[in-house]
Amino acid sequence: MIEVHYNAKASEVVVFAAEELTAYLERMLDPALDLEISLDSDSSVFAAGCNDSFRVRICADGENGGTIVGSNDRSVLLAVYDYLQYLGCRFLMPVRICEIVPRIGREHLAAVYEKQASYFHRGVCIEGADSFENIMDYIAWLPKAGFNSFFLQFKSPYAFLHRWYSHERNPYAEEEPYTQEDAQRDMVLFEQAAKKRGLLVHKAGHGWTGEVLGYQTVSWDTGAEPNEEQYRHRMAMIGGRRELFHGIPANTNLCYHNGDAVDAFAALVTKYARENPYMDYLHVWLADTHNNLCECEDCCKTTLSDQYVELLNEIDRRLTQEGLKTRIVFLLYQELLWPPEVSRLENPDRFVLMFAPISRTFEKSYELDGAQTALPEFHRNQVTLPVNLGENMAFLRAWQKIFTGSGFVYDYPLGRAHYGDFGYVHIARVLNADIRKLDEMGLDGYISCQELRAAFPNALPNYVMGHTLFQKNCPVEELIREYYRACYDADAKAVLDYLSRLSELSSCDYVNGKSARCDADIAARMEEAVRCCEAFAETVRRHQGEDGAWESIYWEVLEYHRNYVILFARTLKALAEGDQAQADQKWEILREYICKNEEKYQPYLDVYRVLEVTQNYTGLHRQKS
Ligand SMILES: [Zn+2]
Repeated sequence: MIEVHYNAKASEVVVFAAEELTAYLERMLDPALDLEISLDSDSSVFAAGCNDSFRVRICADGENGGTIVGSNDRSVLLAVYDYLQYLGCRFLMPVRICEIVPRIGREHLAAVYEKQASYFHRGVCIEGADSFENIMDYIAWLPKAGFNSFFLQFKSPYAFLHRWYSHERNPYAEEEPYTQEDAQRDMVLFEQAAKKRGLLVHKAGHGWTGEVLGYQTVSWDTGAEPNEEQYRHRMAMIGGRRELFHGIPANTNLCYHNGDAVDAFAALVTKYARENPYMDYLHVWLADTHNNLCECEDCCKTTLSDQYVELLNEIDRRLTQEGLKTRIVFLLYQELLWPPEVSRLENPDRFVLMFAPISRTFEKSYELDGAQTALPEFHRNQVTLPVNLGENMAFLRAWQKIFTGSGFVYDYPLGRAHYGDFGYVHIARVLNADIRKLDEMGLDGYISCQELRAAFPNALPNYVMGHTLFQKNCPVEELIREYYRACYDADAKAVLDYLSRLSELSSCDYVNGKSARCDADIAARMEEAVRCCEAFAETVRRHQGEDGAWESIYWEVLEYHRNYVILFARTLKALAEGDQAQADQKWEILREYICKNEEKYQPYLDVYRVLEVTQNYTGLHRQKS
């Protein structure tokens, strides 16, 4: 019999860890086997202030059980999943059916080891179009891959759920109603699921500027309620006019010289902090686009970053006055990449720096020597964001000269960029290389702003991300081989060679519109990618039975992916050859294919997002019917 003990005063996280350990071991072991394990959360046996740490000592010296001790409650759960992996379990994707739980004998249980997370912040931020189940599955998977944080963007994740239930961009799925009230109700369940696992919860971010203008801003939708007259004076003045930036409140900046706008902003943040005591990190960001700054005489006398720092100081004063200890995350991106000239944060301990190199290339990893690069000159409403990794690094270093508190990267490998890497092997390696450099960048972690449904052809990038954040020196090539063995068994090497080749042939930058559209090299590479997929057909189909049933979901998804890459590569080839009409026509075929199949392969490919990216960034157009 398997018995897992814990202290009578243990938190719900430790109780949950015990339930998980019991449930998995019961599936793995002979029921006649006797095993007693105790779980304990005890910071005193670890170095003070250490990142998530744990010790595992099971069946050592012939004992009939043992102990798992974590430096905090969450670490106990992390330790349980880590030990299960040690025993051969594999949590391959944020999809419940995609895990491997082996049957093992008593002789395999022995383990004595200790681990400490390499970084403090290890998380994912919601993007794309997601069902309720997608989000719950994702939260459940996070600690299994070593993560400790989840970020629900905006004040509620309505935008992401509504995109899914309305089946935006998929004409073959029937729209289902999903309201803001539904999002409020579901958000409580997401937070409970996160807290049950001891995850750190991040909230808000964009949307504040829209709220200051009187719009309930839980998405990037255009402003429906006309509050424009009442709050027009708070809007940024651009080209002599104060109005919503392209009609979108979340993208509209304010006139931060206006005391009324700053007052309203600070009041909204303070109220939200007061009402959300369980939130660990509150994100205070400005508008979500660039070249939209106020051009009034007073705003032009200073910089956006100086105004931002003053706003953050005002928020800090109000939180302090109310005795609220809420940590505030401030954002370096778009115009805020340029550091403030005069203003400084008065209470730096309140704040965490978040560096978001949103415009970077993903062809390569971060370039640390970029700190030597000079900052580009700032021209109000005429900035071009840095693609170059050196320039991005120079901005970070400039901010770090005036803010020495803790910080993390907020990056986008699985938000847009990944659609340009057909094999997912390249992006997984870039992720690993990036995360290993965080120390040298003076940052303590990584939050990935990403589609939750990003497992196409498999979830290797997300897997490598979690494991590298937890153990930055984990041998990545071994991790990749181990992942492939778990998914594709005896043909693991053949699949890895095939997907590595697709990675080499494809281009993150091309799909994301960061290079010239006409490109003979890309056209040739796309032709080769099609050939490569066609040549691999036989290997994949060996894993399908005569009745059509697949050996496993991994093979079935790989075949679906193979067909998708053929259609996608043909589209890009036409585009790179300069034949827009052909490209649009071939894109139509790709769209039909993935929209019709979305229901069947829902957790693996976010159809909304790949279509949004190919339309808005790659440059493909819907044909007039
Ligand atoms: Zn102004």
